[in-house]
Amino acid sequence: MVILGATGSIGRQAIEVISAHPDGFEIAALAAGSDAAGLETLARAHGSPPTGLGAAAAIELARLEDSDVVLNAVVGAAGLEASLAALEAGKTLALANKESLVAGGELCLDAAKRGGGRIEPVDSEHAAIAQCLNNVAPDDIARIVLTASGGPFRLRTDLAGITPSEALAHPTWRMGPKITIDSATLMNKGLEVIEAHYLFGLPYERIGVLVHPQSMVHGIVELVDGSSLMQAAPADMRIPIQAALAPNRPRRELSAPLDLASAPALEFEETDLERFPALSLARFAGQAGGTCPAVLNAANEEAVRAFLGGAIPFTGIVATVEAVLAHHERSEAGNLEQLLEVDRWARRRAREVMRTISGAG
Ligand code: NDP
Ligand code: MG
Repeated sequence: MVILGATGSIGRQAIEVISAHPDGFEIAALAAGSDAAGLETLARAHGSPPTGLGAAAAIELARLEDSDVVLNAVVGAAGLEASLAALEAGKTLALANKESLVAGGELCLDAAKRGGGRIEPVDSEHAAIAQCLNNVAPDDIARIVLTASGGPFRLRTDLAGITPSEALAHPTWRMGPKITIDSATLMNKGLEVIEAHYLFGLPYERIGVLVHPQSMVHGIVELVDGSSLMQAAPADMRIPIQAALAPNRPRRELSAPLDLASAPALEFEETDLERFPALSLARFAGQAGGTCPAVLNAANEEAVRAFLGGAIPFTGIVATVEAVLAHHERSEAGNLEQLLEVDRWARRRAREVMRTISGAG
């Protein structure tokens, strides 16, 4: 298998998972963005497979002839073309890079159809739902529900003045910086609703979200007969990574099951859409379809980067995304070139909007 984004949080945990399956996997190639030293160290420790840096290398390695599985753990829409390449080449795409499906959901589905590739979700909620959907007939699904931890500000009433280090302190998951900020704004859950729409082929009104602060139940499938199937597990990404890579060969030594008798009480509550407008914004963009989800995603990536760099306040992230979407004239997603052009437009527009927000002119 090929691991893209090998030096990141998911990439490193994926390497741990496959190291626990010595007879099951061989690393065919490793790729990262710019961390040449980190990539070299990983490669030396795992049989010195070929390596590559940057988006172009990721695309090339995604098509590598003697690989069956591509794990895409790149962060951001930078991972889209590698996802398309893997699906077109008929690979099993273990997908952590949810931005691929948000920015280019239709293109990914087309590429899979053309090339014969298929997507196995790594995102914990989607991996949970995929497990619950085993042996469920499509007509029996009433709706699916993604759970959300609620992030570090679930109970905070005033979201002004939040610093990057406060927003980076996630209560239940240890992840890369971009998704951690997305979890604090709840944009992550919005991106996941769009991701679920493309993965499971359900309309937006049948994809719900519930805040569940304990992060033990990851996904719920409600059936038409009134039953709900739920998947529960410790908040450990190695579990969904393993479910995507080796569904029939689980290794117990990676993570013990939840000890429910000594677990805290499990709570579920509706999301507060007034304090966390990112979720409504993402639903709006998803429902509008066409180029709108790609614009939402690109503007969000730029705004998160600006917030982490101290250029805009926390509340400026969603304000920027909203302003860019409001300026956008929707069109059909079309082809990759058109989509990449829209992505670049949204990033330029976001930077213009943020200059007014930050007061720098
Ligand atoms: P990290 O920031 O920890 O890692 C990102 C990886 O992507 C690094 O290997 C980085 O390389 C590489 N990368 C960055 N930019 C590029 C680029 N332009 N071209 C090629 N490679 C690039 O992120 P995470 O591991 O946290 O997240 C990865 C993806 O998985 C995201 O889409 C996230 O939403 C998703 N995800 C993550 C979860 C988690 O627990 N972390 C949970 C669920 C989903 P380098 O080190 O060289 O910069
Ligand atoms: Mg998730």
